[in-house]
Amino acid sequence: MALMVKKYGGTSVADLERIRVVAEQAQEDRRQGHDVVIVVSAMSGETNRLMGLALEASDNPNPRELDVLLSTGEQVTIALLSMCLAEWNCPAVSYTGAQVHIRTDSAFNKARILDIDQRRIRRDLEKGRVVVVAGFQGVDEEGNITTLGRGGSDTTAVALAAAQGAKECQIYTDVDGVYTTDPRVVPKARKLDRLTFEEMLELASLGAKVLQIRAVEFASKYNVPIRVLSSFEAGEGTLIAPEEAEMEQPLISGIAFTRDEAKITVQGVPDKPGIAYQILDAVADANIEVDMILQNISNESATDFTFTVHRNDHERALGLLETTCGELGAQSVTGDASIVKISLVGVGMRSHAGIASTMFGALAAEGINIQMISTSEIKISVVVDEKYLELAVRALHTAFGLDQDSEED
Ligand code: ADP
Ligand code: ASP
Ligand code: MG
Repeated sequence: MALMVKKYGGTSVADLERIRVVAEQAQEDRRQGHDVVIVVSAMSGETNRLMGLALEASDNPNPRELDVLLSTGEQVTIALLSMCLAEWNCPAVSYTGAQVHIRTDSAFNKARILDIDQRRIRRDLEKGRVVVVAGFQGVDEEGNITTLGRGGSDTTAVALAAAQGAKECQIYTDVDGVYTTDPRVVPKARKLDRLTFEEMLELASLGAKVLQIRAVEFASKYNVPIRVLSSFEAGEGTLIAPEEAEMEQPLISGIAFTRDEAKITVQGVPDKPGIAYQILDAVADANIEVDMILQNISNESATDFTFTVHRNDHERALGLLETTCGELGAQSVTGDASIVKISLVGVGMRSHAGIASTMFGALAAEGINIQMISTSEIKISVVVDEKYLELAVRALHTAFGLDQDSEED
C-alpha cells in the first residue's frame, strides 16, 4: 500500500462536476489500497476575484488581511471535496493549512514553509480517511494565516509529499504534462516525458507557470520527484526527477517566456567608477529587483546603462531614477514597459557551442530585433518587443527542432 499525494489546480476543481471527478479518482485509489492525501487550489478564477475585491477595498491592502481573504478560496474547495467523498461513503476529512500546522515565516503573501506537523494527517490515514488539505496557505508563529504566493498550492503538495515520505508528488492540472513551451502559445509544442529538477527550475524561474518555482526547489532539496498530469485525461504525464548520469540530455529542453518585464535606460551617464553602483543602489533601496543589466561601450566619456525590472515596479523605478538622474549627471532616463523576455533552456547546452548563433539567426530571419541578451551555463535569454512574443517563440521552437512533427530532437 503506497501513499499518494495529489494536488489539483483551479481548473481541476472549477465546479462541482470537476470536484466529483477528483473524488472519483480518490475513491479509486482507496479501492486499490492506497493512502490518499489531496491538496486543492481554489476554484479557477477565485483567487483573482478575491484579489480584485481587496484592491477595490483598498489601494494598498494590508498584507495580513489580504492573506486572511485569499486563503478563503481554498477553504471552499476542501470542504466541497470532502462532502462529495462522504456522499459516496468514502470517509474524508478536510483541513486548512493552520489545522495541519503548515508552519511558515511571516512574509505575508509570499510566505515560506518551515515545517509541517504530520501527526494529525497520519492518524487520519491510519483510520482509512482521505485527507484533504487546503493548498497555498499556512500559519506563522503568531498564529496568523499566511499564503505562499501565486501558484503556491504546488508547494504545499510537494512539502506534504516530502514530509510524508511519498514516492512522488502528483500535480494534476489542465495540460497533460510539461511541454517544450506553453502549448497555448505554440500548438506544435511537444510533451516531455522527463525533465531534471535543474531544467524545471530554470523553466519555472524564466516564466513557465506550470509549476511554482518554490515547489521545484522543495522537490529538488528533499529529492521528491514531481509528476505533472492532466485531471481531464489519463496518461503518464511528465516526471521531474534528478539527472541520471547515463541519460543523454537534449540540447534544448524548452522555451520559457515572461510578459512581466520592463526596462529602464539611463542615457549619457559619465563613464566613471561608481555609476552602476549609484544607479542600482537607489533601486535596491526601494526593494525593486533588477534582472538583466547592460552597459554600453562608452562614447566620449559618457555611456548608457539599461536594466530590466518586473513590470509592476516599472513606474516606481522610473520615478526614482528621474529624481536621481540630475545627481548622476545623466542626460535622460527613459522606460519601456512593452518588452518580453524569451529564454532557451537545456542542460545539454553546457557542452555545445553555436546555440546562441542559431537563436539569433532564427530571430533575425523573422526581422525581430534583440534588445538585450543574457546567458548562463544552461540558458540564453533575450529581450524583444512584446509584439514579437508569439512569432519569436514559434520561430525558435521550429529552429531548434522542437515542433511535434519535427524529426530532430
Ligand atoms: P493550475 O491551475 O492547475 O495550477 P496553471 O495555470 O498554474 O494550472 O498551470 C498550467 C498552465 O501552465 C497550462 O494551462 C499552460 O498554459 C501553462 N504553461 C506554461 N508553460 C508551460 C509548459 N512549458 N508546459 C505546460 N504548460 C505550460
Ligand atoms: N489559488 C492560488 C492561486 O491562484 C494558489 C494556487 O492555485 O496554487 O495562485
Ligand atoms: Mg498553478
